[in-house]
Amino acid sequence: MRFEATVKETIQRTPDVRSIRFNRPKGFSYLPGQYIFIGLRVGGKYREKHFTISSSPTEPDHLEITKRLTGHEFADALAALKVGDRVSIDGPEGDFTFAGEYEKILPLTGGIGITPVRSMLRYCMDMKLGTDVVLLYSNSSENDIVFKDELEEMRKSNKKLNVIHTITQPIGGWKGLTGRINGMMIREAVPDFMDRVSYVCGPPMMVDDMVKVLRKELRMPGKKVKYEYFPGY
Ligand SMILES: Cc1cc2nc3c(=O)[nH]c(=O)nc-3n(C[C@H](O)[C@H](O)[C@H](O)COP(=O)(O)OP(=O)(O)OC[C@H]3O[C@@H](n4cnc5c(N)ncnc54)[C@H](O)[C@@H]3O)c2cc1C
Repeated sequence: MRFEATVKETIQRTPDVRSIRFNRPKGFSYLPGQYIFIGLRVGGKYREKHFTISSSPTEPDHLEITKRLTGHEFADALAALKVGDRVSIDGPEGDFTFAGEYEKILPLTGGIGITPVRSMLRYCMDMKLGTDVVLLYSNSSENDIVFKDELEEMRKSNKKLNVIHTITQPIGGWKGLTGRINGMMIREAVPDFMDRVSYVCGPPMMVDDMVKVLRKELRMPGKKVKYEYFPGY
């Protein structure tokens, strides 16, 4: 489906991550984890880029994307959008989705790779799916955790959701896990990892590392390792 959408709201999530909400047209349906193409004029030329829909299909009033503001051309054009501006949207696309197919899942993600996971978690909550979820989420610092408050609120109200943060450049006071996600961390933090379907999403290097750890080190079968690359980081 291709349509013009109007910016409804923008929300600064961290110092360099912003969500942009558009009016959701009637009849636009999607699955948690799918992406859309956002098209706009950048430097006088029309350009399109992929963005995962960070809202959940259960949120009827808006479609949300969440973008790391890289200072590059496309990011600057998105960052300049104001309420009432219009963009072109095409989609949804993609099969990195979760809508209750598995009883236990293990999303492994870093930084902006949280966007499909946020959609999946909100969907699980709103649909009361009862899915057993352990999320391992890596960021450079505590301030970089995208959707931090919402993840905490969902964790508190859902006994079947565990959110484990790991910080790669901790400063004083951080009491949680530190360093990048690795095989040892997964074994210790998620002893039943083999019973889960993992969802890996983020910058290509991180995704490649994670898939290698899951497949080669932890010997998870390929059908239990789903992944999506966010190129450009
Ligand atoms: C399925 C899918 C889902 C995605 N979902 C998301 C999402 O939810 N959120 C998100 O933030 N991203 C997402 N992405 C990535 C997104 O599409 C962009 O590629 C990414 O955000 C980089 O955009 P940019 O604004 O930096 O791009 P551009 O301005 O087009 O730059 C692209 C690349 O060109 C180079 N470049 C451009 N300008 C400069 C410059 N001045 N100096 C040096 N190098 C430069 C850099 O390597 C840069 O990364 C997704 C990608 C895919 C494939």
